[in-house]
Amino acid sequence: MNINKVNDALDRPLRDLRISVIDRCNFRCQYCMPAEIFNESFKFLPKSELLSYEEIERVSKIFASLGVEKLRITGGEPLLRKNLPHLIRNLSKIEGIHDIGLTTNGVFLKRYAVELKEAGLHRVNVSLDSMNDDLFKQINGRNVGTGPVIEGILAARDAGLGVKVNMVVKKGLNESEILPMARFCKEEGLQLRYIEFMDVGHTNGWKMDHVVTKKEILEMLSSEFQLEPADPDYYGEVAKRYRYKGTDTQVGFITSVSESFCGSCTRARISAKGEIYTCLFNGNGHDIKALLRSDLDDNEVTEQIASIWNHRRDRYSDERAEGKNKGQDKIEMSYIGG
Ligand code: SAM
Ligand code: SF4
Ligand code: SF4
Repeated sequence: MNINKVNDALDRPLRDLRISVIDRCNFRCQYCMPAEIFNESFKFLPKSELLSYEEIERVSKIFASLGVEKLRITGGEPLLRKNLPHLIRNLSKIEGIHDIGLTTNGVFLKRYAVELKEAGLHRVNVSLDSMNDDLFKQINGRNVGTGPVIEGILAARDAGLGVKVNMVVKKGLNESEILPMARFCKEEGLQLRYIEFMDVGHTNGWKMDHVVTKKEILEMLSSEFQLEPADPDYYGEVAKRYRYKGTDTQVGFITSVSESFCGSCTRARISAKGEIYTCLFNGNGHDIKALLRSDLDDNEVTEQIASIWNHRRDRYSDERAEGKNKGQDKIEMSYIGG
């Protein structure tokens, strides 16, 4: 099949691809990789089971031919994968890719920010769930204070990268940090995004009672700040954004629990194991690594990916809101990267 024709044949838009380049992490965030499960006896993937950089480049080109314009590199902790700037450099040369982002815990960002920018990275989302050192150490399970992450954030900004800060809010854990995080990010002119704690995977003990909703967070923010809604930048934008009145600084919310947005979801994911997932909460990946390591040519692989996307019926978060999706198999966050 001619690749350009496949693009026309997609039933629904596919704009955004997230690629998890590694399942390992230097943190053990309670809500993602709880230390009691991801311990010394946990078997991480051997390097041969990760997609090679050449394979990631090949599959990214194929996705670009299907309409993908944005790539996001994630993990595990993506900066633990060796020579990541090399991958970014090659991805940035792909026709049709306009935007390359990285989601990171920020610990190694100070070291790599300039190199990543020079390689063609556009933006980073840095995860930081507290301004309080003791609480942050407790959350990340690795006794790492906020210092290296904040240094990473500022180094990325100084290097000319777009920077957003991601804060997962879990009730009983860090809702006391909602205002301190807002103050820090507003002061620095950084966009903070509050992420509702999600039921990804099976290991993080998620309960609906643990979710602090956008509405609750907005009420807290309104006690101190004056906010006005900002218009969405593009179709399918996930964050709902507000602007601090009288400034250009914004704050966003990822409301996948309280206000789901499956109807406009244009995102595919590739797991660290080399599988395509058409939803963050799906347990059934499609083995792209086997396709890439077979003797299929690019057109044949493209056809298969188009078919996977066309058969997609995912609307997990909508179904959660409807009380319908109990007990299904789901992939872990450290394999799929958010
Ligand atoms: N290690 C990198 C980091 O932490 O940014 C990239 C991978 S991490 C899985 C990607 C994003 O998912 C992070 O912003 C993290 O805070 C978020 N995340 C992890 N577990 C989550 C959960 N259960 N609910 C909501 N967000 C979660
Ligand atoms: Fe690691 Fe990121 Fe998960 Fe934290 S959220 S454990 S930093 S992968
Ligand atoms: Fe997309 Fe699945 Fe999230 Fe819905 S639940 S927005 S289909 S990833």
